[in-house]
Amino acid sequence: MTLNTLLPGSPSVNGQQTTLGVMGGGQLGRMFVQAAQAMGYFTVVLDPDPASPAGLVSHHHIRTAYDDEQGLAQLMQRCDAITTEFENVPAHALAALAAQRPVAPSAACVAVAQDRIKEKAHFEQCAPISGVAPAPHAVITTDASLRAVPDHLLPGILKTARMGYDGKGQVRVTTREALAAAWDDLDKVPCVLEKMLPLRAECSVIVARGADGQVVTFPVQKNTHHDGILALTEVFDGAVDTTLAQRAQASTVAIANHLRYVGVLCVEYFVVDTAGGTLDLVVNEMAPRPHNSGHYTQNACDVSQFEAQVRALAGLPLTPPRQHSPTIMVNLLGDLWFQANAVRALPGPQAESPPWGAVLVLPGTHLHLYGKLGARPGRKMGHLNITGASVAQVRDTTSQVLALLGLPPLDA
Ligand code: ATP
Ligand code: MG
Repeated sequence: MTLNTLLPGSPSVNGQQTTLGVMGGGQLGRMFVQAAQAMGYFTVVLDPDPASPAGLVSHHHIRTAYDDEQGLAQLMQRCDAITTEFENVPAHALAALAAQRPVAPSAACVAVAQDRIKEKAHFEQCAPISGVAPAPHAVITTDASLRAVPDHLLPGILKTARMGYDGKGQVRVTTREALAAAWDDLDKVPCVLEKMLPLRAECSVIVARGADGQVVTFPVQKNTHHDGILALTEVFDGAVDTTLAQRAQASTVAIANHLRYVGVLCVEYFVVDTAGGTLDLVVNEMAPRPHNSGHYTQNACDVSQFEAQVRALAGLPLTPPRQHSPTIMVNLLGDLWFQANAVRALPGPQAESPPWGAVLVLPGTHLHLYGKLGARPGRKMGHLNITGASVAQVRDTTSQVLALLGLPPLDA
């Protein structure tokens, strides 16, 4: 269904307050719900988990599987428009919803982001317009395609086509034998083998695109990963080379336009050295939703990625976001809840809250916790946005925060 402007509070399709729905109840859904509520919308979350972070704060929580017909029917009945907070929502469920209600992003766009093979093909199609190509790669779906892999792709990273996140479903391989064994270990599911690139840096770009084709772009963020999981995002002038940043933004707009995308889209890039000694960009992957690397927008920009998601879904105007403070975002993984054990040599696996009091006394620290009940190593529990008047101040505060939390220091 096409999207008309849905103003908050006005009588909706079913005579209720205008209501926005989201498939998935994780932290991204929670922050979408909070942004929607701040603007006066009612919200509904569909997620089977009774303790899902978004379900806990939404006006209504439908606790069924993502493809449960009754759950989907209820979502349609209650909502004026529906979005998703994760790409692995069944595309056919989104398509069913879209028959009755505006859904953004569309099932077709989500299907591209769900599958690395389709995603890479899309990036290659866009390359002549976007000016940025994906990493050299081969698609592996059969024994014959495995044998046909060219030698120059090794050493490489074998990635499952579907369901990968935070470095899961990836195996680094250096020889053809290791590649064959790794594919075997992955039960020979469809995969992509990517050439291992020497990365200088990683960055990502968030854009929001409306149903009318209007696009707004957020500043480019520089990302640091530890063990395949995002650890830090830095956003200020000079964090990413200016020319590369402009190219990354233009490329992301081209990718969104080519898909006729509606909603918030994040595209990740690698910064690599060229043979000529200059730096170049390679497009890695995209997320059809707000992204962990865009959380800084909540405190450093006048429009957050979640407000942009609400505006795009509700057909409201998209105004260009303005960054008002340099910023660094620190991801808070469950490991931090066990740090005290290591520091104080406490026995056993009991979790203890990190020293928030000592962190929050520092000016410009903004704590976001997702309300998850159990801390586990590697689990995303929250993030801290650190803002300041200058880059030096933000870096200084961040260094203090990292030391308090027992995390590795910033690079010099
Ligand atoms: P995400 O959590 O972003 O969804 P993911 O599991 O989908 O992660 P990727 O983003 O493809 O996986 O890869 C995770 C990380 O592994 C990248 O951020 C990068 O640090 C590294 N990496 C991935 N592909 C390559 C490559 N071709 N060459 C070098 N490093 C790579
Ligand atoms: Mg990634």
